[in-house]
Amino acid sequence: MSSALRTLKFPGRIGLGTWHMGSSASQRAREVAAVSHALSVGYRLFDTAEMYADGGAERVLGEALKRFGLARRAELMIVSKVLPGNASRVGTIHACEASIRRLGCEYLDLYLLHWPGRHAFTETLKGFQELWQRQLIRHFGVSNLDLRDMQQWLDAENRVGLNSSSVECNQIYYSVEARGSEYRLLPWQRQHGIQTMAYSPLGQGSLTEHPELRRLARQRDVSAAQIALAWCIREPDVIAIPKSIDPKRIEDNFNAAQLTLTLSELAQIDRVFPPPHSQKPLQTL
Ligand code: NDP
Repeated sequence: MSSALRTLKFPGRIGLGTWHMGSSASQRAREVAAVSHALSVGYRLFDTAEMYADGGAERVLGEALKRFGLARRAELMIVSKVLPGNASRVGTIHACEASIRRLGCEYLDLYLLHWPGRHAFTETLKGFQELWQRQLIRHFGVSNLDLRDMQQWLDAENRVGLNSSSVECNQIYYSVEARGSEYRLLPWQRQHGIQTMAYSPLGQGSLTEHPELRRLARQRDVSAAQIALAWCIREPDVIAIPKSIDPKRIEDNFNAAQLTLTLSELAQIDRVFPPPHSQKPLQTL
């Protein structure tokens, strides 16, 4: 199972986030149109979760996927997440089945534990194993796990008979203003071949107004959002999943994958958003 799972290859470096979609009936048509627009400009990676609007975001995504056509399902990477409270063996299986029903797709490409909770990792892993055997998920991963959690996760994989490590991705908060993971987690994940998916890469929108990013953006004739995203994905094992329901922003964000920042630009960003080694080391890790 392990070698079959460790083949995760993302379709592109920028995916679409869906948090906050599906919570308002009056916004639904606009949100479905936004996801459809993302599909038409080339997005192939979509991130959602059972938590988002109690399944509402999965329904919005499912509606857009239906319009795109399930014949083209193989082009896509659909990511969803199980809530920690549901992450027992049986609960994980039921949660995944429900997500697949709402999305209207036959399987998930990547299924994540949303964050660590009361259920033992071994239980969640047994659920993931069964889902994989039934071909309901292609890959599994985690989200919001720190280094100690990740080490415990790998121990749990060994206990359920998986070779270390089968987990393929950790989705974490990572942006110019959230660089703590660079201190130990990212190097460790790199060493273990575990890819990183950066969530809230635009600081939930606030970074798009940051004066320093805007200054750098003006010099390159791009947007501050593109600078923030290009920075996030500057290493090949990190991808980012900005959310937007605005067609122009959706395009703007997607095109950030074409932007390579210069060493001088990276140094200027470091001065304003210092990397963690120049701060106090994280004692808890
Ligand atoms: P983002 O950093 O992606 O920012 C989204 C906000 O920025 C929205 O308000 C959006 O508004 C605005 N925005 C997007 N693009 C632009 C742009 N080019 N210019 C100006 N404003 C812009 O925050 P999220 O927290 O949504 O993170 C992205 C995704 O990551 C989520 O949607 C979710 O899928 C995932 N996530 C996962 C978490 C986890 O625990 N695993 C936690 C948080 C997020 P508008 O839509 O109006 O354009």
